[in-house]
Amino acid sequence: MTARPTAPDYSSLDPCVHCGFCLPACPTYLATGDESDSPRGRIVLMRALERGEIGADDAALLQHLDACLGCLGCEPVCPSGVGYGRGIQTAREQLFARRGPSPLAAAVLGVFRRDRVWRPAFTVARWLRATGLPRVLAGGGRAGFGMGMLAASAPATARGGAPGRRLARPSAAAAAPTVALFRGCVMDTLFGHVHDATRRTLEANGYRVVEVEGQVCCGALHEHAGDRAAAESLARSNVEALAGSADWIVVNSAGCGALLKAYGHLLGTEAATELAGRVRDVSELLADRGPRPGGELPLEVAYDAPCHLQHAQRVHAAPLAVLGAVPGLRLRLLPSSDKCCGSAGIYSVLRPDMARAVLDLKIQSFAQADPRPDVVATGNPGCLMQIGAGLRAAGLAIRVVHPVELLDESYRRAKIYG
Ligand code: SF4
Ligand code: SF4
Repeated sequence: MTARPTAPDYSSLDPCVHCGFCLPACPTYLATGDESDSPRGRIVLMRALERGEIGADDAALLQHLDACLGCLGCEPVCPSGVGYGRGIQTAREQLFARRGPSPLAAAVLGVFRRDRVWRPAFTVARWLRATGLPRVLAGGGRAGFGMGMLAASAPATARGGAPGRRLARPSAAAAAPTVALFRGCVMDTLFGHVHDATRRTLEANGYRVVEVEGQVCCGALHEHAGDRAAAESLARSNVEALAGSADWIVVNSAGCGALLKAYGHLLGTEAATELAGRVRDVSELLADRGPRPGGELPLEVAYDAPCHLQHAQRVHAAPLAVLGAVPGLRLRLLPSSDKCCGSAGIYSVLRPDMARAVLDLKIQSFAQADPRPDVVATGNPGCLMQIGAGLRAAGLAIRVVHPVELLDESYRRAKIYG
């Protein structure tokens, strides 16, 4: 007897009472003003899909569900506790199974499936970045914006370290808690300087950082797109590679961290659940130790919360504690600091116009800030590149860095690294 396929589970949407409190929290609704681009409107569409009243190939349904950033900004403001994220994930998996990805999405997701494809591709991008051309060619058009994204991935200082560099030596006392660095794909190739800052700041706070070979892309881009099989395959490889590696698995990319923490749910195995329980964002591990204060950095810094850190992982205070350990740093939260930047995995590649419309709302708040920040700090590669490109396109001379880069620079000034 063959097992009957299980029906897609939309029960997390059951508590919705259609009050509309979520509408002002939704970046796509704010950008278009269209109810169908709001959480409430999308819930109505998903329910109609569930009941078979709308087909999985309905153009309007696809347009409005595809336009969702998956930022989860609608969840914390919902008084009924609707699990919007689980609902849209169910819809995406249902639609992916039915129609497959678009050719562009298939190509991008295919690149991230294989280390031997994305690593050379991002290595070439890093060489291009090193020529300085992306900085010169950055602008507001589509090509210029892409150049701005690449330029924004560069180390903020010449001392940023060699991208992708592996740790050269064992660190800290043998009895210190051990931390395995999750390297990822974009982080490992374009943000090696953030990995280096992560290692140094963790060591300065009493952790011993260890290297683990055999890691692959976390699978978040695939999961986000509804390609569950690819996400599961990548997750299984990481669970195998990282099993028993250290007391903690540290992640400095909010999007990767959110999925690694959900590996237990994704794979449903004991090993995946055990691993997920050891995953921490770098800010959480640092905040657990204070972190120790560094030297003075007299900067106006606007913190911008990545959606997958604040909403998916519910990490709010730890990044502020990291920045609070830098004497002289004046920390600010601008009105748009909790709103999505429009990056959202591969969303900005697939839907560049909506991504830019969402980003523009945030860029406006930087432009209008008084005093204007010197630096924006945010802990996710997509946000770093998207916001950085947006600032360049708007002609705003504001640097974008990961919070650990500021703590790292502060430790250098205090000569903590010797
Ligand atoms: S998702 Fe929550 S906030 Fe939005 S309409 Fe439904 S009950 Fe109201
Ligand atoms: S996940 Fe983000 S874009 Fe999607 S409905 Fe919720 S708030 Fe809007």
